[in-house]
Order: sequence, then C-alpha cells, then structure tokens
Amino acid sequence: MKIPYVNLKKQWSTEKKNILKLIDKTLSNGEWVGGPEIRKFETNIKRICKTKYAVALNSGTDALTLGMYLLGVKKDDEVITIPNSFIASVATIVHLGAKPIFVDVLPDQNIDPKKIEKKITNKTKAIMPVHLTGRVSNMDEIVKIAKKYNLKIIEDAAQSVGAKYKGKPAGSFGDVGCFSAHPLKNLNAIGDSGFLVTNNKKLSERAKDLRNHGMTNRNKVNHFGHVSRMDNIQAAILNYRIKNLDKIISIRRKNAEFYFKNLNSKFIKLPYENKNQFNTFHTFVIQVKNRDKLQLYLKKNNIKTAIHYPIPIHLQPACKKFKYSKGDFKIAENQSKEILTLPINEHLSKKELKYISNKINKFYE
Ligand SMILES: *Cc1c(COP(=O)(O)O)cnc(C)c1O
Repeated sequence: MKIPYVNLKKQWSTEKKNILKLIDKTLSNGEWVGGPEIRKFETNIKRICKTKYAVALNSGTDALTLGMYLLGVKKDDEVITIPNSFIASVATIVHLGAKPIFVDVLPDQNIDPKKIEKKITNKTKAIMPVHLTGRVSNMDEIVKIAKKYNLKIIEDAAQSVGAKYKGKPAGSFGDVGCFSAHPLKNLNAIGDSGFLVTNNKKLSERAKDLRNHGMTNRNKVNHFGHVSRMDNIQAAILNYRIKNLDKIISIRRKNAEFYFKNLNSKFIKLPYENKNQFNTFHTFVIQVKNRDKLQLYLKKNNIKTAIHYPIPIHLQPACKKFKYSKGDFKIAENQSKEILTLPINEHLSKKELKYISNKINKFYE
C-alpha cells in the first residue's frame, strides 16, 4: 500500500470528463478575462459565507493584501496575528509596510484571545485571526476586543471555507474574510485562485477596481491598482466543484471520525472540535512526542505526511528585522516540534485509513 498525502491525480480522474467539456464551453465563449463565471462564482460564495459581497481574486495572498489595504493598514501600523501560520499571512502585512505583532496560540493552534489585549498599542490597526486547519478561531472574544479598541478584523480563512463558529461561517465575522482556492485547499481551482468576502459595499467595489488595474470602467481610474483577477476558466471550474463542497467536507469529517475512534489517544493528541466549532478538516493535525521519528517510520511504510509548519514565522530569517527570538511564543514553538499532518483527503479508502491508524498506534505501543 502506498498512500500519498494529497491526491490531485485521483481528483482529476473522477472529474476529467465533465471538466474537459466545461473548459471547452468556457473558452469557446471567448470571454477569458472577467466574464459570467466570475459573477456566478461570487454569487455562490456569498451564499456559502453568508455575506453581502464577494470578490473573486487570483489568490488568497492577494485577498489578504487588498483586504488589509482597503481597511487602511499602512506603513508603521501594527497587525496582530499568530506566528504558526502559512508565511503569506505575515508577508502581506510586511509588504504593506506594517509590523506583524504575534500572539501565542491555544492547543487548537488558533490565536489565544486572552493574550491579545496586552499586545495592543496606539499603532495597532487590525487583528488577523487565522482559522488554521479548518477550525474557526474564538471569534466572540476577538470581535469584542476589536470593538473595544476600535480595531479592524481581517480573517485569514484560507484554510477554512465552509467552517463555522456557533453556526456562523468563517469569513463572516470580520470586516473582511480572505480565502484561498489553491489546489491544496478544500475548494480548489486548477491553479492559483482566491477571494474575499465582506458586508461593506464600498470595500467590495474598491476591491473589484483594484483587482483590475484600479479601473472603475474602461477609461476611469480613481486609484492605481493591481492585476489580481481570477480567471474566468478558474471560476468555471470552481462553480463546478463548489457543488461538491458539502460532500467533500462530510467525507473529511467521516475520515476524522475514523481517526478519533482508531488512533490511540493515550499517545496522540487529536484535533477534536470544541462545541462551538464545525471543523472542515482542511488538515488533520495530530500532536505527538517523537514526531520526526514517527514521520520517518510512516515514510518507510509508504505513508506520506506533512508538517504545517516546522518553523514558526517569527523564527524565519525573513522575520529577523522584527527582532523576535526563540522562546517568545512557547506554545507555538512547542507545537512546531510535535505537529504532524496526516492524510485526510476525500479519496482515502477505509482500508487506507485503517492502515495509517494501525501503523501509528504500533509505533507508540
Ligand atoms: C494557503 C494559505 C494562504 C495563501 O493562499 P494562496 O491562495 O496560496 O495565496 C494564506 N494563509 C493561509 C493560512 C493559507 O493556508
């Protein structure tokens, strides 16, 4: 048995017939940049995220950049976020000239709201909770703090399309919610894609201008913009795949259920959802002692795993100028040594899940 960590080849084999037809149809229309599929996709997303507006973009990274820019994040501002995210969360803060202010995390890897307030200064502009692994951060407390200090909230929901907190969708809590449709995300395009959601009409209109050179129409430019558009072909594919999103999430939840029942929780910390969360299991991250040895052992047994992420961002060479050091965020740093992401994708068979669980249990028992 050989178990890949993700299985895009298998995904393609199940949808090839339909998507090839769809590509032909979409390209034959002759609208390759912009077009009807984009508008349809935005309507689909508004429904899923329960927001008034959605803007299709070329990546989750640009969603974060445009979102923060439109919320007024600028040079020398401070943005509060976590040190254990994907690098793009912080890169976008830095590119706007702002400073990332890190806050340590909870056992579920999301921001610890209790540690936010003492990091707020008169330069703080926004809080960026990252909903890691498919679980939404504790938004009640975060919204309360943002209101008290008049801060903006930009949700990095790149890993959490369809996830909920107290029944409310990821992305709908803050001023802007940012998502990725990168091939490795639960709702995936065939290349780079992303989107933002908001209830702020003006912000959504400005984001639509900025993604397209700042052009309000063919001849009028109010603000210089970027090229951050989603391709019509990606939107067509996403509109097709979005019909399966609920099914994909439910299979992932079933796979997680299998792990919960079969992995030995005496040795393995499991990513349970708390009572407020609806977990979409973008990833299934366990926390274990002897992580590296376990990963090697699984590799030898033909099971591919991943680590999201082995080096916390405050310890990356790129972050040097912000003068953080080892020990600043002990929980995130400890987790970086214990986390291991298991295969959880919707293409796994029961037999494969069983094989993975047995091997992991065997390693510890
Ligand atoms: C994937 C991801 C991003 C970036 O999304 P892209 O579409 O790849 O630009 C940002 N933040 C987090 C937490 C992510 O997982």
